[in-house]
Amino acid sequence: MMTKENPTSLIVIFGATGDLAKRKLYQSLYRLYKNGSISKNFAVVGVARRPLTNEDFRANVAKSVNGAASGNADVEEFSSHFYYQPFDVTSSESYQQLKSLSSSLDQEYQTNGNRMFYLAMAPEFFGTIASNLKAEGLTDTTGFKRLVIEKPFGHSLPTAKELNEEIRGAFHESEIYRIDHYLGKEMVQNIEVIRFANALFEPLWNNRYISNIQITSSEVLGVEDRGRYYENSGALRDMVQNHMLQMVALLAMEPPIKLNPEEIRSEKVKVLRALRQIDQSEVDQYFVRGQYSAGMIEEERVPGYREENSVDPASNTETYVAGKLVIDNFRWAGVPIYIRTGKRMSSKSTKVVVQFKDIPMNLYYNRGEKVDPNLLVIHIQPDEGITLHLNAKKSGKDITTTPIKLDYSNNCIDGINTPEAYERLIFDAMRGDMTNFTHWDEVALSWSFIDQVSKAWESTTAEDFPNYEAGSVGPKKADELLKRDGFHWWNV
Ligand code: NAP
Repeated sequence: MMTKENPTSLIVIFGATGDLAKRKLYQSLYRLYKNGSISKNFAVVGVARRPLTNEDFRANVAKSVNGAASGNADVEEFSSHFYYQPFDVTSSESYQQLKSLSSSLDQEYQTNGNRMFYLAMAPEFFGTIASNLKAEGLTDTTGFKRLVIEKPFGHSLPTAKELNEEIRGAFHESEIYRIDHYLGKEMVQNIEVIRFANALFEPLWNNRYISNIQITSSEVLGVEDRGRYYENSGALRDMVQNHMLQMVALLAMEPPIKLNPEEIRSEKVKVLRALRQIDQSEVDQYFVRGQYSAGMIEEERVPGYREENSVDPASNTETYVAGKLVIDNFRWAGVPIYIRTGKRMSSKSTKVVVQFKDIPMNLYYNRGEKVDPNLLVIHIQPDEGITLHLNAKKSGKDITTTPIKLDYSNNCIDGINTPEAYERLIFDAMRGDMTNFTHWDEVALSWSFIDQVSKAWESTTAEDFPNYEAGSVGPKKADELLKRDGFHWWNV
């Protein structure tokens, strides 16, 4: 009998030879297997076009896993649960073969008829696969049937709706697990705990005490070999529509009445509903787009975006976005939330900075300057932790102040045992916990907000592109966005 803690399932991975499967999925499954989180009654069927044997596939899986945990004798036992089937996503025969393999593995591994279909493939196949799974009877099973689906979920609200209708023809909303891997990150999950489990923060978490919130997600890498995908996406769709807006929702939501997926989602949805819609004609007041030129990163010269593989030499695609979001509700009226994300930046870092308002009367000075505002910094990656920036007295005879920092580093406490985002999300999907997956309502609201910005940008050429150098902190205009409100980005 399956327990909530020790789930069992047949897992079918579509795109089993791809980058995501190799870099993340096999390692995560291995860690779940190794630490006993999943029952030994599981089997994985990998499908993709190329003709591999079970042995080839198991060797590939073992290779991926060994990269993460070398010299483990049980890797062989683990990979013996893996099976491979060459597959054509449009062929009925492929699904029939998969159905018969699944039935025999259900029996052999006593998976109680539980089936999880993980779509680690290009999004144009998502709808076809979901409908074929139903049409060919793979979803007729005695246990649960779940669809785990990777980003991007659509390209705009209309395309996302179309995709949603297609997959909803085969799976109920409660069976669809839309991955946003940011939601699997330790410190993103920690946002609600920091907020709602601390008497120190929750009373201050509103427009009376917070002046602005800044969310940064910067990467040092460029587009690498994903130029074709990125040309169609850009930073707005790749990062803002999903990861950044999910973080905004977690930072701004009201306390849920219970910690269950429905209540948490309902609060997140309210934030997205309160997000002020921007008219296309106003986009320049709220958003800045950027594209990187060639530059120096770690003393090495790197090419500009327009020189990357599969990128149009006159590309209008943004590799950087900064934006000012306004949440029109009682708690947040008057508090801007600034976001920025970009490729080829000076450092890799995802963090949230909450800037508190200045104290009402300034009695103290730091070298003749007003004291700094208090900041709460939530470090999401690569560092994990929180830092509180305060002011204290400088030692000595005079009453002058000095900024001090209280630091908590999660990396030091949990170290290598901190599970990877994918490990946590696969485990949640297997045990049926939807808290950290995005519901259709969230996806739809996010797209409806983003679509206004993308329409405005796609209808005009960015004359100033490229407008920031690789290895820098982004375009100047992003600084002006905050300056207009009397703020600046905190690079802390
Ligand atoms: P990828 O490396 O291009 O892999 C695609 C996989 O699909 C391969 O296994 C490929 O194998 C298979 N495939 C392609 N066409 C097929 C067809 N017609 N029939 C059957 N199989 C087919 O892609 P990826 O980077 O792993 O990304 C997969 C999904 O995850 C995408 O939706 C992507 O946006 C998302 N994602 C990826 C990452 C990442 O880190 N890579 C991060 C976030 C989200 P064959 O060539 O053998 O058919």
